[in-house]
Parts: sequence; structure tokens; C-alpha cells
Amino acid sequence: MKRVTILGATGSIGQNTIDLIARAPDDYDVVALTGGQNITQLARDAIRLGADVAVTADEGKLEALRAALAGTGIEAAAGETALVDAASRPADWVMSAIVGFAGLAPGLAALRQGATLALANKESLVCAGPLVMATARDCGARVLPVDSEHSAVFQALVGEDMAAVERIVITASGGAFRDWPLEALEHATPEEAATHPNWDMGQRITIDSASMFNKALELIETKEYFGVEPSRIEAVVHPESLIHALVGFRDGALMAHVGPPDMRHAIGFALHYPERRDLPVARLDLAALGQLNFRPADEVRWPALRLARAVMETGGLSGAVFNAAKERALDHFLARRISFPQMSAVVEAVLERLWARTGLIDAPFDLDNVREADHLARVTADETVAERR
Ligand code: NAD
Ligand code: MG
Repeated sequence: MKRVTILGATGSIGQNTIDLIARAPDDYDVVALTGGQNITQLARDAIRLGADVAVTADEGKLEALRAALAGTGIEAAAGETALVDAASRPADWVMSAIVGFAGLAPGLAALRQGATLALANKESLVCAGPLVMATARDCGARVLPVDSEHSAVFQALVGEDMAAVERIVITASGGAFRDWPLEALEHATPEEAATHPNWDMGQRITIDSASMFNKALELIETKEYFGVEPSRIEAVVHPESLIHALVGFRDGALMAHVGPPDMRHAIGFALHYPERRDLPVARLDLAALGQLNFRPADEVRWPALRLARAVMETGGLSGAVFNAAKERALDHFLARRISFPQMSAVVEAVLERLWARTGLIDAPFDLDNVREADHLARVTADETVAERR
């Protein structure tokens, strides 16, 4: 039996992971499930899967969780430390599917106890790629990518020599506004941005798809995970979201990973790795599809892509600043304090301010310094928004 923990179990990736695990209950021993506000769902899944412990990120919800689990023998806990403790419980496989910077510390804890970390939380790699990869190495643990593009690249690289890789191309649907006139973006609402043409995902990543901040994070994630130079990493718009990524080799070959937009493929690949097992995903009928389309990823329409290049070139703790500024800009957009295009303007302003600050970006890569960069970027983003209003 594989001992599994799911961090962010109540979210979109968490629920898809549970869907796969619940299909083969005898194969898995569920250690911990974590969630946020949705206590009913967290308790229901913990009971259904027979978890040892259920943890909510919100300390104010501890009593509600205890009540929902009363008489089941399942432990209830709450708060940031409890999340890290849950991730530290011995498990073979840990799904990291908390959204945002909050996923970093529990993910590192899972690696420290030697678990295989199925990483959906791309923010971990963006903020602290060198720290995550070094922790895995030092603890004899493994990180497997769950982002669809990175799972696709990983699969295209099986049996290949990294020295033969010429380029990595990740695809982007273009999100909700890919066909909108540029002038209209000024008036785009959070509700409009949260509608994805192809994928069914959490609210924040769906809006990040419309702004391409998601693809920007993924370019950085590619650099950190695969150790490829930024100049060899590209994004291309592919409206159908059927090719997830392509790897180009020195002999001109381009290997594409093709499949329906269903995260259960990438989750299942990471769950069963190095085996391949049956997965309940649709099979493509290529003749019925007829054609696939591609267009350039326009850095004027999506300034986040240009910013990601600058972040990769500058390096150091730039990724932590970039991610935190992006998370706050998104909060301000959701609260209708800034417009959709202002999100990238705020992030750019924060980067410029903090790049100018001596000692911050070049500080050694440890969790305290990453937290400090994250915190400063949030404060600076809030100040920038206040000044612009
Ligand atoms: P979601 O919003 O649906 O779920 C997020 C989960 O994190 C929930 O369980 C929530 O309770 C928990 N959470 C939220 N804030 C928290 C906090 N401060 N502390 C602890 N837990 C907290 O998000 P999602 O779409 O499932 O995405 C999860 C991660 O996977 C993100 O990093 C996202 O970028 C990545 N990802 C998602 C998809 C997708 O298809 N949804 C695809 C690729 C990568
Ligand atoms: Mg992705």
C-alpha cells in the first residue's frame, strides 16, 4: 500500500487526485488531507478515504473541523504549523496542491521526510527553485512535476540526454481574453477573467491564465526544474490545449506530448511513476479534430511573459518577489481596486523597486530569506496600488 498525503485536498487538483485514489482504495493508505475554508468537504473526504489526520489552514475553523470529525477517530488540526506537521508525517507520496506561496513550507517538509513530492504548486519552484531541488537531493527525495506542461516535458525527456536538448516549448491556451481587443482589457472583470476556454481549474490560476502570469510562472518553473537556460525556453499560444509541451533536440526532432485537457493525466503519471497505468481520461480522435492551431505569445498583450524573462535573467530571489507581487496584484484585482492590465504594471513596479534594493535579491537561498523577499514584495505591491489610486 502506498502511503499518500494530499496538501490542498479540497481544491481542483486535490479533488482530481482524490478521484484517482478513490478508484483504487486498496492501493492507498491515506495519511493526511489538508484544506482551507471548506470544512464539510475536507471532513467528508477524510472520512471516505480513512485519513489519519485532517488539517485546515484556518485556525478559526478548528472547532468546526473537530465537530465534523467527532467519533471517527480522525485527528483534526489547524494552522500553518499543523500543515507542516501533517506534511512531515511519514508518507511515500505527497501531492503539493496548495495554491500560492503557502505551499512552499509544507512541500519542503514533505521532501525532508523523504517523500516523493508530486508538485502542482508551481509557486514553490518560482520562489525557491534552488532550495526545493537541493532539499530533494539532500534528503534522497524526488520531485515530480504535475503542471501539465512540465509533466509533458518530463515524459518527452524519458531516456534522453539533457545535453541533446535544444529547446523546450510550452503551450498556452491564451486564456479568457486571447481574442479580446486590447482596449477592452481595461474593463475586464474578475468574473470574465475566471472563465477558462479549455481547463476547469481553481479561480486564481484561471485568472493567471488570462493574464499569462500562469505561463510566466511556468517559464520560470521550466528553468528551475529542468535546469535549462532561459534562452532555450519558449511559450506558444495553442488555443486547443491539446499539445501541452514540446521538446526540441539537437538533431531537429521535436517531441510533442498530446492529450485532452484533464489534469488527471499528469496527476496519475506522477502517482504511478515510473509505471504507466490505466487512467480515466478521454482518448483523442485526431481525424475528428482535423487541425491544431498555434500563434505567437505576444508580449504586448501579455506583459507577464516579458517580466518572466527579466526575472529569469536577474535570478536570485527575483522569483519570490515576482510571485508575491503577482499574488497581491491578483488580490487587488479581485477586490476591484485595480484593472486587469494594472496587475502587470504593479508587478513590474515592485520588481524595479526591489531590484534596486541592495542585498535583497542576492541573499542566500534559505527559507527565511525567501520569506523576507515574499513579505517585502507584498508590502511594496500594496504601497504601489495605494499610490496609483
Ligand atoms: P484551488 O484554489 O482549487 O485549491 C487550492 C487549495 O489550497 C485548496 O485546498 C485550499 O483550501 C488550499 N489553500 C488555499 N489557501 C491556502 C493557504 N493559505 N494555506 C493552506 N492551504 C490553502 O487551486 P488549484 O487550481 O487546485 O491549484 C493548486 C495548485 O496547483 C496551484 O499552485 C496551481 O497553480 C497548481 N496547478 C493547478 C492546475 C489546475 O488544473 N487546477 C494545473 C496546474 C497547476
Ligand atoms: Mg500548467
